[in-house]
Amino acid sequence: MPAPFSDPVWRKPQAASRFQSLFAGGVRADVVIVGGGIMGLSTALHAARSGMSVQVLEAGDIGRGASGLNGGQVIPGLKYDPEWLLAHFGPERGEALVNFAASTADAVFELIRDEKLAVPFVRNGWIQAAHTEAALKAAAKRDRQWRARGADVELLSEAEIAAMTGARGYLGGWLDRRAGVIDPLAYTSELARVAAAAGVGIAERQKVVKLVNAGGVWRVSTESGTELQAKAVVLATNAYTDGLIPGLAETIVPLHSFQIATAPLTPKLAATILPEGQAVSDSRRILVYYRKSADGRLVLGGRGRVALPTSASDWAHLERALRRLYPCLSNVAIEKRWFGRVAMTPDHLPHIHEPQQGLVAVVGCQGRGVGLMTALGERIATYLSGGDARRLPFPLTPIRPIPFHAFRQVGVAATIAWYRLLDALEH
Ligand SMILES: Cc1cc2nc3c(=O)[nH]c(=O)nc-3n(C[C@H](O)[C@H](O)[C@H](O)COP(=O)(O)OP(=O)(O)OC[C@H]3O[C@@H](n4cnc5c(N)ncnc54)[C@H](O)[C@@H]3O)c2cc1C
Repeated sequence: MPAPFSDPVWRKPQAASRFQSLFAGGVRADVVIVGGGIMGLSTALHAARSGMSVQVLEAGDIGRGASGLNGGQVIPGLKYDPEWLLAHFGPERGEALVNFAASTADAVFELIRDEKLAVPFVRNGWIQAAHTEAALKAAAKRDRQWRARGADVELLSEAEIAAMTGARGYLGGWLDRRAGVIDPLAYTSELARVAAAAGVGIAERQKVVKLVNAGGVWRVSTESGTELQAKAVVLATNAYTDGLIPGLAETIVPLHSFQIATAPLTPKLAATILPEGQAVSDSRRILVYYRKSADGRLVLGGRGRVALPTSASDWAHLERALRRLYPCLSNVAIEKRWFGRVAMTPDHLPHIHEPQQGLVAVVGCQGRGVGLMTALGERIATYLSGGDARRLPFPLTPIRPIPFHAFRQVGVAATIAWYRLLDALEH
């Protein structure tokens, strides 16, 4: 039976190469990074630039994890607004965290500019679209807090959001001009290219199966029998985390995010749908997010079923959402369907762990990892080069498996069904 899904619409740059550069067995690297997504590659690039010898080992191909499959929305901030972060983390760490959260989209666009990455992008903002009065109030609160910090943000009226999105059904919204959209596969491939040029060894199809510390040296073994030595190891496996570090996979809930892409829009449709190229997420509990791609398609994503998809009908809820927002697209074909994994943590914040000295793990991108993991990678690299743990944006925490993790699929499926019902009642 053919797979019900396709490759994403995203493109690697024409000249993208394969990565098969492995340090020789006897060589001890400063850092081995497990996972070649945005997190692993950003860490690798910055660590190499600060003089460390770095090897990245990726189980599959670069860009086949969430980093090359995502929606390419580059959104600063976290789930929480500045006042919550200050109340929760206290004035000092809270303030540092707010500044870090504010900087994550800059980190991506500055890398694209400074490293001359061949990545299609538009930096014209992200719209959080409100479909209820309650969502409008939340947008006003968010707007007040970020505006007080000088962020380039504004509230949108019903007429403004209708003109900017061309979509039906919103009461208003919030525009964050710091944000933008990129081609995420091009970005991940280009990060790998510049990291390799900076001296990082990157090897694809090298699944790490064992980590052992012997006398302060990490021995890293891969499925194909390669063994490397390193002073430090960074686990950058996020939603694809397996059993390498006991208990780590049980600290996250991996969810599926599904996406669809229309056929390229006609110039007439393209002129009314997101004419300025913003990214959009709506305010529903089970939200949908959308944007236009560089080749002129509308790309829309949202939560997918917990089990692996078996037919195109598993994307039907997204097609319904697309046609509810854009009845004018009723006759436009859906040409692509794909999905990837997102890692959620119970507190909706990324977690950094160091269960043993020289073994650092970062999990929990919460679906915002394009900016977040780019910026966090730089901070992890600084930490590896002798930086102070207190300067990491998130505190180092112990690995705390979620109770009853084995039953998570039942719980997640039930929660999604309940939220969908609430969303439908509000419609
Ligand atoms: C469909 C979808 C849409 C999304 N949309 C957005 C969006 O619009 N904006 C946004 O900011 N974020 C979005 N996200 C989230 C974003 O993609 C992630 O936060 C980000 O890519 C995480 O990067 P990462 O490097 O931490 O993880 P990944 O890119 O998932 O990389 C982890 C890598 O580790 C490798 N790996 C796992 N185990 C091993 C092992 N044992 N040995 C070697 N390698 C291993 C995997 O193969 C994988 O390549 C979306 C995610 C998905 C799935």
